[in-house]
Amino acid sequence: MKRELSLIVPCYEEETSIPLFYEETKKVLEEMSCNYEIIFIDDGSKDNTLREIESLAEKDSHVRYISFSRNFGKEAAMYAGFANTSGDYVAVMDVDLQDPPALLPKMMDMIREEGCDSVATRRVNRKGEPAIKSLFARMFYRLINRISDADIADGARDFRLMKRQMTDVIVEMGEYNRFSKGIFGWIGFQTRWLPYENQERVAGESKWSFWKLTKYALEGIINFSQVPLSIASWFGILMTAVAFLFILFIITRRLIFGDPVDGWPSLVCIITLVGGIQLFCMGIMGQYIAKTYLEVKKRPHYIVGKSNIEQISPIH
Ligand code: UDP
Ligand code: MG
Repeated sequence: MKRELSLIVPCYEEETSIPLFYEETKKVLEEMSCNYEIIFIDDGSKDNTLREIESLAEKDSHVRYISFSRNFGKEAAMYAGFANTSGDYVAVMDVDLQDPPALLPKMMDMIREEGCDSVATRRVNRKGEPAIKSLFARMFYRLINRISDADIADGARDFRLMKRQMTDVIVEMGEYNRFSKGIFGWIGFQTRWLPYENQERVAGESKWSFWKLTKYALEGIINFSQVPLSIASWFGILMTAVAFLFILFIITRRLIFGDPVDGWPSLVCIITLVGGIQLFCMGIMGQYIAKTYLEVKKRPHYIVGKSNIEQISPIH
């Protein structure tokens, strides 16, 4: 059945947030008086998340769900949502109410009246977030915007509303290593930004540890920039030039002053330095090769364990 608005909601161990999210969002959606669906993606939770979703689906036909066979990550959950929506307009939302549902009518109006293709949200502050996390996040956005052609605003959320046409393009971009904020920016289209004050989680806690976020940031950089690869070459050129000058210096010194046998410590330092730089450069290349390896294997993004969507393909 054709729907006007599809909401994609990734959930990972969110049994406490789901009822709160449903109640609040339902109110907003009913007021908007459009034909909608809420697609919950249970990302392989081990708690009662799936049971909560199923009980909502039993009493409300607007609720659909896909439950993964294991935890595949938020990126895979969003991809599953995009691949299985039918709405003319599609939105992605977190279940912890950090993406206020009250913004939806405004976003819908903006997209209809201003004729843009998507409305994206951006936090204007990071109130309630640890200072160190904010600092690293800001550094990451500054860096990635400088070294890649994906335009990513600082504080950009995954919470956005977009037209069907954009969703279809996103599903077509079937790359395995996904970094949605980069993909949204990279595909282009007219996007309007809607700033809002940061909201704290209603229940449960964030599943993104500092380490997980760091890995995600590196993923973003490697997926959207080749600059680190050229850093490796520049390092190589620089080291060769330095070594060449050094050889010239040593030969000249030998011709003028003879060959005093000293300088071992400096030699060891140089060997270690060059070895370190070589390993560093190989590491960068290794990262890209590892990504290529995963892409080439063409493993599915997710595996469906259970769903109430008809004709869903179990692997995608
Ligand atoms: N999430 C998910 N799979 C995961 C981790 C998180 O689907 O492996 C969902 C989570 O349930 C939530 C959203 O992604 O709806 C954002 O996660 P979280 O609130 O933990 O991140 P934060 O807001 O702290 O960045
Ligand atoms: Mg959150």
